[in-house]
Amino acid sequence: MRRFSAIALILTMMFPSLSFGADQDGSQAVLAGYSPRASQSEREWEAKFRAVPDPANLREYMRRLSARPHHVGSPYDKDNAEWILAHFKEWGLDAHIERFDVLFPAPKVRVLEMLAPTKFTAKLEEPGLAVDPTSNQKSEQLPTYNAYSIDGDVTAPLVFVNYGLPEDYEKLDRLGVSVKGAIVIAKYLRSWRGVKPKVAAEHGAIGCIIYSEPEDDGYTRDNVFPMGPMRPADGVQRGSVMDFASNSPGDPLTPGVGATPDAKRLALKDAKSITKIPVLPISYGDAQPLLAALAGPMAPDEWRGSLPIPYHVGPGPAQVHLKVAFNWDIKPVYDVIAKIPGSVAPDEWIIRGNHHDAWVNGAEDPLSGQSSLLEEARALSLLLKQGWKPRRTIIYCAWDGEEPMLLGSTEFAETHADELREHAAVYINTDGNNRGVLNMGGSHSLEQFINGVARDIEDPETKMTVWQRAQLTKIAQAKSEDDRPQSRKEARKELRQRGDLRIEALGSGTDYTAFLDHLGIATLNLEYEGEDEQGIYHSIYDDFYWYTHFSDTDFVYGQALAQTIGTSVMRLADAEVLPFDFVDLADTVEMYTKNLEKLLTDKQEEFRERNQELDEGMFKATFDPRRPTDAPAREEIPPHLNFAPMQNAVDSLTRSAKHYQQALAQKEASLGDDAFAGKLGALNRELIESERRLTNADGLPRRPWYKHLLYAPGVYTGYGVKTVPGVREGIEQKRYAEADQEIVRVSKALEDEAALIESAARELEGAGR
Ligand SMILES: [Zn+2]
Repeated sequence: MRRFSAIALILTMMFPSLSFGADQDGSQAVLAGYSPRASQSEREWEAKFRAVPDPANLREYMRRLSARPHHVGSPYDKDNAEWILAHFKEWGLDAHIERFDVLFPAPKVRVLEMLAPTKFTAKLEEPGLAVDPTSNQKSEQLPTYNAYSIDGDVTAPLVFVNYGLPEDYEKLDRLGVSVKGAIVIAKYLRSWRGVKPKVAAEHGAIGCIIYSEPEDDGYTRDNVFPMGPMRPADGVQRGSVMDFASNSPGDPLTPGVGATPDAKRLALKDAKSITKIPVLPISYGDAQPLLAALAGPMAPDEWRGSLPIPYHVGPGPAQVHLKVAFNWDIKPVYDVIAKIPGSVAPDEWIIRGNHHDAWVNGAEDPLSGQSSLLEEARALSLLLKQGWKPRRTIIYCAWDGEEPMLLGSTEFAETHADELREHAAVYINTDGNNRGVLNMGGSHSLEQFINGVARDIEDPETKMTVWQRAQLTKIAQAKSEDDRPQSRKEARKELRQRGDLRIEALGSGTDYTAFLDHLGIATLNLEYEGEDEQGIYHSIYDDFYWYTHFSDTDFVYGQALAQTIGTSVMRLADAEVLPFDFVDLADTVEMYTKNLEKLLTDKQEEFRERNQELDEGMFKATFDPRRPTDAPAREEIPPHLNFAPMQNAVDSLTRSAKHYQQALAQKEASLGDDAFAGKLGALNRELIESERRLTNADGLPRRPWYKHLLYAPGVYTGYGVKTVPGVREGIEQKRYAEADQEIVRVSKALEDEAALIESAARELEGAGR
């Protein structure tokens, strides 16, 4: 801590404007997109806003909303939606509930037993705990299961597949182990859970079990609940396994359109995003006897967890029976929508969302974020009563059905696709929130903007700005995480000198997906995280007792989140010119282009080396004949690809981004003039359009619902982002001709983007003083 504050002091001297937006002489920097007068007024309103959020309210919202299980279709899910609606209305907001009817399977049969070499029946049950009152609400809890697993009844030998990633199956091949006709058991994490049954089925497995390994979120890391925050032996991670990344999220029966009463629905058998094989999640208490009964080769070192058993891969002799069957019912989801109409530009929308449904009581996921959303709405309504008039329309959304797979937000986005494409400027999302450092993700045209907001928020623990804390944490991580000293040094240099911290590109796993990937709306996703371990994710133990003992127990990070998002919403809603900036975007796309070129040359080098080693007989020389392993397959060397169109497009984008930035700076003083007023509508229209230009109506190869050409969830990662996905996945999946075509498509979009930004720059230059 001492060392941190010493660095902070030096930085404050180097960049005086870092401290809460104040310049050295105490005056405040003019906000981007604001005239000096409007900027000053905005800062005053924002300061009033930030004084409102109260940890005691956040605590009370969470206690109320998590008091009973509230999954899709449950009585308390509807009750919560109505309670949220009543509060929006009580605060004077124009609010309503929008209902959709979606496919939501709930289990009616769950059997997992070992038939040989010994008999064992899995409990599949999380026990309630005397100290934790809501953990005992058995009659309302959903059993442990994976939603959108297909019905199935299979008996087969068991194979341990590590995390169940494509590379794990390559390793199994080399060990001479096939999963064809087998049931696989995979560890949770490293990929989104739905990727595990997908890859297993592609390799011929007929069933999939997923367990929570104690090394990842159990006793290896800290005491287990209720002594500590980690997963107890019978704790299970529920969750969706819908194959959303290859198809689309949302209701599987109405892909691409809203699940309204009159929507045409697919027959269940035609729903593409349901798994091909049955899946069931289990605890490590249930997994241990199954894993202990495996023989065959020892699992590779890095596959072994911390159960007190030797980890073998099988197949068998463990023979396992897995049976699951579901009620495939249509259930209602209730999105709660509140509007604050804009006073000058009501047709430009700033949208803010967080889900309210949970797998069980869901205190951390999602109520830690939902509580902040509610407190923001209350604070904004207080400002309205004091005379604040946002320029643009603000829309607050409490989504339902996020957990099964983004049902409420996706159906809303699909239903209102045309108006959203027309009017939505920015979507801001949160989900769970914890203690620690601000994590910023989103569209890179908002990178400069959100860095600016982070410089104005105080960190509750260190009292430095949350921006400084994020920067210094990244510098500390850059010291330890990479083993190449030169790149560590370069990373630290960039963190100190670049000005804006790089924000993360978004993959998926929460409600921004339809807004960003399907509609091309500029998006931010924010959370505080990093200081507390947790092993209660999607279990009955994610509840008020857990959160108030092991996470943001005094709700000061909930308060900081409300201050961060509320400030962002206001600053976006009030700016004369939407505060998009394209210099960071151009810089990021340039970096992606270089990364892709390196990905290709690395692959060429790797395969060339491997083929040479095969010729030399290296694998034969180094393998132990008593533990036979096959040599890897020969690989075709990837061809060269033509990156020139993308490099040229990056140059165009960089030029126009700089031009726009200069034009905006020149006109700053006159943005508030009457002469400018008539020009702002057209200019802001172009800015709203800028994220759409990065999409293509035909979508990505084989997954047309995903239209953004820069960001998408990976088909084989799920949560994890693939940047420039058409090109990157083309190279990774060895479809080189397709990668070449995708480079052309991406380059065209970037050239169009550059032209739009150039036109916006000229629009600015021709207006005002
Ligand atoms: Zn969530």
